[in-house]
Amino acid sequence: MNSVNGKSANIEEELEWIVERSDTAKNTLNPIRRIVDRLKVFTSEKQFISLGLGDPAAFEGFSPHPAVIEAVHQVLTDGKSNGYCPAVGSPLARTAIAQRYSYESVVLSEEDVFVTSGCSGALDLAFSALAGPGQSILLPQPGFPLYETLCHNKGINILHYPLLPEASWSIDLEQVGILAKQHKIAAWLINNPSNPCGSVYSREHLIHCKELAKKLKIPIIADEIYETLTFDGHQFVPMATLQPEVPLLTVGGLAKRFLVPGWRVGWVLCYGTALDDIKRALGDLATLILGANSLIQAAIPAILKVPEEHHQMINGHVAEIALTAYSLLSKIEGLQPLKPQGAFYMMVRLSPSIIERTRDDVEFCEMLVDREAVLCLPGTIFGAPGFVRIVCCAPLPQIIDACARIASFCSSLLN
Ligand SMILES: *Cc1c(COP(=O)(O)O)cnc(C)c1O
Repeated sequence: MNSVNGKSANIEEELEWIVERSDTAKNTLNPIRRIVDRLKVFTSEKQFISLGLGDPAAFEGFSPHPAVIEAVHQVLTDGKSNGYCPAVGSPLARTAIAQRYSYESVVLSEEDVFVTSGCSGALDLAFSALAGPGQSILLPQPGFPLYETLCHNKGINILHYPLLPEASWSIDLEQVGILAKQHKIAAWLINNPSNPCGSVYSREHLIHCKELAKKLKIPIIADEIYETLTFDGHQFVPMATLQPEVPLLTVGGLAKRFLVPGWRVGWVLCYGTALDDIKRALGDLATLILGANSLIQAAIPAILKVPEEHHQMINGHVAEIALTAYSLLSKIEGLQPLKPQGAFYMMVRLSPSIIERTRDDVEFCEMLVDREAVLCLPGTIFGAPGFVRIVCCAPLPQIIDACARIASFCSSLLN
């Protein structure tokens, strides 16, 4: 039976290895990749302009402050930061972050700070600490796609609350109230300034959010990765300054404010009194990856001291790009841009006539990149079909060129 013949050779072939992905991996499929991969294929011979990726480091005019580079250079040369840090973060980094994000109304100590691998790592930790399989988290729609990917991965139930484009993308608090009546909610995620909306919430609106969270007894996760990156008269109000009445986990990091997304350092900040068990949970969960990059952590005390003028200069740079793009896109028949207030983004609504001729926002972006070599991301990726998201980081001449190409594309659709 075991002699070498045709048959057994066939069986052997059939016994080729099959290594199947786990159920966790099956639940971690990122629907965005598929769309973005499709958008990468284009035939136009024009010079490619990306208004797609929210990575400032990809554009000129967004270099980190020299003190940031010097700080990392220094700790590298010192040679004292090559070892493991505590999983929750190095004491020096935690203390510096605690000081920087303490306010008159709430003071953080080292134990309230958890240093993570990017703000993505902070979100992962905060979600895991507050919710598990079958529990529900409230997410903004439109919103940053990673929120959903993280929830799917952990079996967390997603409840979307709407942001209102007519009201500068403010939160539909009535809907939040309705959802809270129907479900038990483990956490309410509020992203301010917003990716993808480019909106910045007023103090009044944030107070209304906090009052509602207090009434409903829902802890808040505030994703404030863009923090002071605002312009055109809009001011960033940290959720923590409205404290201490609601348990609050603020997530942030170096990526956007310090223009070094690839350095992968972020943090979770715990504000409020009821979070003792959550802090223990964050500490336990942090041991899963043994914390963030030790070199960058060692540089954090110096990085956080970058002079405010540098951040203001970057804000001015983004403002010029964003407001120029807004004014140019406003003139295009078939497009309705919503005025950006902060972060790197602007949402543009497609008119029914544009939708009619392209089918949807995904097709619009595909046709635009194919014909004009301008890449924007379809709103569908962020849960906002009928919109496209523009990243406002490309140099001014490129932005002006891109807007002209978008204008000629729209005009070719409508005429
Ligand atoms: C970029 C971004 C993050 C992730 O930041 P990293 O530090 O690069 O992981 C989180 N939230 C929002 C809203 C973002 O735009």
